[in-house]
Amino acid sequence: MSNKKVLNFQTEVKQLLNLMIHSLYSNKDIFLRELISNASDAIDKLKFEQIKNPEINKNEELYIEIKFDKDAKTLTISDNGIGMSYDEVIENIGTIANSGTKKFLTQLSGDEKKDSNLIGQFGVGFYSAFIVAKSIELYTLKAGCENSEGVVWMSDGTGEFTIENVNKEQSGTMVVLHLKDDCEEFLSDWKLRSLVRTYSDHINYPIKMLKNITSEDSDKEVVSTELETVNQANALWVRSKNNITNDEYKEFYKHISHDFNEPLIWTHNKVEGTQEYTQLLYIPSKAPFDLYDSKRRYGVKLYIKRVFIMDDAEKLLPNYLRFIRGVIDSQDLPLNISREILQSSKDIDNIRTGSTKKVLSMLEDLVKKDSESYGVFYKEFGNVIKEGIIEDHANKDKIASLLRFISTNSDSDVPNVSLDQYIKQMKANQDKIYFITAESYNSAKNSPHLEVFKKNNIEVLLLIDKIDEWVVSHLNKYEEKELISVASSGLDLSKIINESEEDKSHKKELAKPIIEKIKKSLGDKVKDVQNTTRLINSPSCLLVEENAMSIHMEQILKQAGQPINGSKPILEVNMAHPLVKKLEDTLNEDEDVNISQILFDQATLLEGLKLENPSEFIDRMNKLICL
Ligand code: ADP
Ligand code: MG
Repeated sequence: MSNKKVLNFQTEVKQLLNLMIHSLYSNKDIFLRELISNASDAIDKLKFEQIKNPEINKNEELYIEIKFDKDAKTLTISDNGIGMSYDEVIENIGTIANSGTKKFLTQLSGDEKKDSNLIGQFGVGFYSAFIVAKSIELYTLKAGCENSEGVVWMSDGTGEFTIENVNKEQSGTMVVLHLKDDCEEFLSDWKLRSLVRTYSDHINYPIKMLKNITSEDSDKEVVSTELETVNQANALWVRSKNNITNDEYKEFYKHISHDFNEPLIWTHNKVEGTQEYTQLLYIPSKAPFDLYDSKRRYGVKLYIKRVFIMDDAEKLLPNYLRFIRGVIDSQDLPLNISREILQSSKDIDNIRTGSTKKVLSMLEDLVKKDSESYGVFYKEFGNVIKEGIIEDHANKDKIASLLRFISTNSDSDVPNVSLDQYIKQMKANQDKIYFITAESYNSAKNSPHLEVFKKNNIEVLLLIDKIDEWVVSHLNKYEEKELISVASSGLDLSKIINESEEDKSHKKELAKPIIEKIKKSLGDKVKDVQNTTRLINSPSCLLVEENAMSIHMEQILKQAGQPINGSKPILEVNMAHPLVKKLEDTLNEDEDVNISQILFDQATLLEGLKLENPSEFIDRMNKLICL
């Protein structure tokens, strides 16, 4: 029966334990919340099992119990939930199943303050018990498995744990903490009750503690004890909004999200109609570290008639709202629903449409009521929301109105200009929304493409995130205004700038011979050479044809290893620049080629691209300088 093993913690667990014990010491209380949260999850899972197999632990009252022993200095948290098998204990409590753990650990800085913030996003879980315990015993028996044996897991949290079989009658899990000497404050009835009420009041199941019953006549003498429920033990989302305090909402958030930080905002509604369901949806104040990890955990939990069905029911919200945490509790879905059924359920589609609307209108409200918080939201999740432009056609305009951009109108690199605001600020006769895409703020801001815009005070949005290229390729118009890249060859600012047709054609004539020289010199390197409509100070820049893939987009795809046949660029040159003017009196073709090639290479560099032949470029430059 014994089957005793001594095993090592996974390396990452050791690292995590160390970090946790050191960085969260001033936050000791949280261990209780975490253990209660696990116990509650375990009861959720048992109830879910009972749907398929109603005989399991039939008629048993499901609850969590907390007790302590002052003499032995132990604190015990037990539940009669699902329990764990021998192998499950090893898997769940000794390794970290989360694929993002390694990534998380590489983000650590060694600065305790910063790291303890990070660890909050990571979710501290079971191991937080080692903040207060010098050693832990966990006894568990899996529910519903005939002849299964109990298991005891023991560790002092330094590097290894032992596991062996043990007699346990009652299925479920019991965690015994041997408290550190300086953590004896938790051996107090008053302290424990107040922690439960503060952090775990919202837990759906009773959390019980012993209560002394004193006899009527002698109020000193303890006659007996009985178990008493300390929390409200009622699903929070079922309660009426008016009876729930903000603190309760916040604690509930921490329980379901495994996030240490407070939520930014939430929305809580009962939806009635063809579908009846309750939604309680939160926006976190910090992005989780695994936001871009396809194996990320935690999302919106699905309950059906208050029975927990699954975590991260990804069909309940579109992918671009994957940062939302919360609960959706349906009255109508069948209890035996599976992930496969979820995929194709009309009812789920309905709930998704409704919940998406709710989240978007919650964000719209936030914009109006608390722009500072909206800034926080946008910093954390702006790039994820952008995916909605591509993913959610039906809500495209709404999502577009929620986007924020960096703009040439301010010196800040914080995106805070909306498309509506841009339109309001447009110049007389301007009917397009101008943007530039680039790989960094500096290269966008200093791009020669912006020269004519700056000179004429025309606002340009600076798009510097990778996803922006996809966003603008899906967002051609907003409020009837076309979005157009400043690097597009079709750029025509004549309506705004008021240049007469006469002036234009005069300039064109003057430029002709020079353009011809450059065209001849560059041959098929370029699609075309044209006189500039946008350069003021720089000699040259590269453009792409209207509707062609932008140079920046080509770059992104190339870096991602995608073979692409980019179209040839168009070279624009600025007749007012001395280098271009030089071409008026060049004496031979060699000189033409030299200058033309330099104009082309400089424009290439300014796009953030690499030169095919840098040494040739330097030779040409030197020739020019030394001449
Ligand atoms: P999380 O709760 O985020 O999954 P924890 O570190 O808190 O992470 O717990 C790790 C795992 O250990 C849980 O996912 C669960 O499988 C298991 N576990 C912890 N406590 C219990 C319990 N009381 N009953 C059953 N399983 C538990
Ligand atoms: Mg947990």
